[in-house]
Amino acid sequence: MSILPVATGSVGAVAPSPGGPAWSGLDGASGHPLMTAEAIREAAANFPACIESLWPEAARRGISRDSFVRFTAGLAPDLRIMDLMDAQPEFTKAFWDYLDILVTDARLQKGREILAAHRPIFEAVERAYGVDRYIIAAIWGIESNYGTAIGERPVLRSTATLACIGRRQAYFREEFLSALEILHRGDVRPEDLKGSWAGAFGPTQFMPTAFKRYAVDFDGDGRRDVVTSVPDIIASTANNLKKDGWQPGHTWGYEVVVPQGFDYMLADPSKQFTLAQWETLGLRRPGGLAFPRPHERAYLMVPAGARGPGFLMLNNFRVIMKYNPAEAYALAIGHFADRLRGGGPFVQPWPRDEPVLSRTERYELQQLLAARGYDVGEPDGRLGPRTRAALRRYQASVGLVPDGFASATVLSYLRGQASR
Ligand code: CA
Repeated sequence: MSILPVATGSVGAVAPSPGGPAWSGLDGASGHPLMTAEAIREAAANFPACIESLWPEAARRGISRDSFVRFTAGLAPDLRIMDLMDAQPEFTKAFWDYLDILVTDARLQKGREILAAHRPIFEAVERAYGVDRYIIAAIWGIESNYGTAIGERPVLRSTATLACIGRRQAYFREEFLSALEILHRGDVRPEDLKGSWAGAFGPTQFMPTAFKRYAVDFDGDGRRDVVTSVPDIIASTANNLKKDGWQPGHTWGYEVVVPQGFDYMLADPSKQFTLAQWETLGLRRPGGLAFPRPHERAYLMVPAGARGPGFLMLNNFRVIMKYNPAEAYALAIGHFADRLRGGGPFVQPWPRDEPVLSRTERYELQQLLAARGYDVGEPDGRLGPRTRAALRRYQASVGLVPDGFASATVLSYLRGQASR
């Protein structure tokens, strides 16, 4: 059963992106009305008028007409981004595959070298912001492999494209105008303002609006340069976490062993208990380690279901999620930081033999849940907390272990193919 719209667009003549393939010319995978090939072409044709329509708002932000004209002159949309925006790996890969790609020995070794090379800066930043160096080094390593994979797309062009074309225009108008502000003020040089297709730039991948909120000039040269100044990069990232509520001296969470027969309906971000209460429910750290602060509140996440490891998530995990709202990302950051601090790999194995649902199948799973009256939000092929909550209720209703894991088995139940 195919729920995704069949791509009907023909591959047309589209200006290629610098150093990469051109737009496929196909409908976007999300099925959003603004992502059809026709809608993309129409919006692209209107691009210059769309950019000019943003001038009054730019003026209200103190951007001069001179800067506006200079930085937007000759700006053309980068339509290749339309193919990329539905394919983020943190939402399309298995949790374990995503972690395998990011937490490697080579990347950890490079992290240790970075920590040693910039030790005085990390120490000064820890004193000033109360955010531990390992988390910052982890973000630096995971976001850009220590600045070696920052992205080559000009941020202004990417955010302008997304501000005028596709399904997230309102969000990206803010990013585009903020990118213009950065250029107008001269914090980052135009040639350095390059990044991912979504407009995140620099080694720790600040979005332009996040830059406005969090970037600091830690080396005192008068510019908040989160691209080429190591002190500014480290301190701005720490300031971001601090302002988002980082608790100094605390960790992000713990790997836990979930006992047989556990009620997985409790594995939900809305179900917060103290670590001591979780212990009375039978959850234990591997190796019998104690929880250093038993009265901290946490929620349980079992990203691979009952056959995989459990994790109790503390306040600082939520802070990492604010940096990049994907659970696989936040877990990778927390784990990477633990490894840099000298910790070992996760103790419990992942269920690597579980087939991973394709994006189409994930989308179908959400549609089938919605058709049965479960709230999954707007089906988007991303299996977040809301889909998992719906899945748990469905699993419970058909007598499966309600662990919220989107297995091939549960999809076959939803399709009505499995016998009860
Ligand atoms: Ca500076």
